[in-house]
Amino acid sequence: MYSALKHRVYLANIALTKHGLITLTWGNASEIDREAGVVAIKPSGVKYEELSEDDIVVLDLSGRVVEGSLRPSSDAPTHLEIYRSFPEIGGIVHTHSRFATVFSQAVRAIPPMGTTHADAFLGAVECTRRLTPEEVEADYEENTGRVIAETVGSRPVMDVPAVLVSEHGPFTWGADAAEALKNAVILEEVAAMAWHTAMLGKEREISPHLMKKHYERKHGKDAYYGQEKR
Ligand SMILES: [Zn+2]
Repeated sequence: MYSALKHRVYLANIALTKHGLITLTWGNASEIDREAGVVAIKPSGVKYEELSEDDIVVLDLSGRVVEGSLRPSSDAPTHLEIYRSFPEIGGIVHTHSRFATVFSQAVRAIPPMGTTHADAFLGAVECTRRLTPEEVEADYEENTGRVIAETVGSRPVMDVPAVLVSEHGPFTWGADAAEALKNAVILEEVAAMAWHTAMLGKEREISPHLMKKHYERKHGKDAYYGQEKR
């Protein structure tokens, strides 16, 4: 069962390594089937070069394994908390990609500095607050999902489909795993650009009108970037 879902999650996980976002096993991708109420995710600690589609674990939204013989990613409770918090989200990716993680470790948002950022993110990619000792002690991974939801707050969750977890690394999302993957790739690139721009002593943010223009021509209701859907 769920072979199409598992296939898509397998491809997204493998693509993370192809894009150079993953060192060793530091990352994972998942996708939810809202109708069936199940989430497919990478198994814990399995090397990407040894990963097969059959290894992908399927969970219900409470974390019970409904298909698969391996243990799910240790970050699964974070993914599940994000899916429970935001019904619009269909896929999630977590990495420790270098430049996004540098900002996470500095507990700093990635400011929108140019159109590369604005094409994907309508504003800064925010960084969560630090977790308290109690939040780390009990239900750490679920609490990580909670601070991500807290950081998104009441703004539309798809306007900026990413959050940096402080002292940890980035989570990105999208309509499915492939879109979450794409946003993880873009996030790493804009984090690297922002870092280098800041190193030049230029931390000026993009003009709000230019940011809005770029975001909306790709994602707004009258989007005109790319080809018409056939
Ligand atoms: Zn991590």
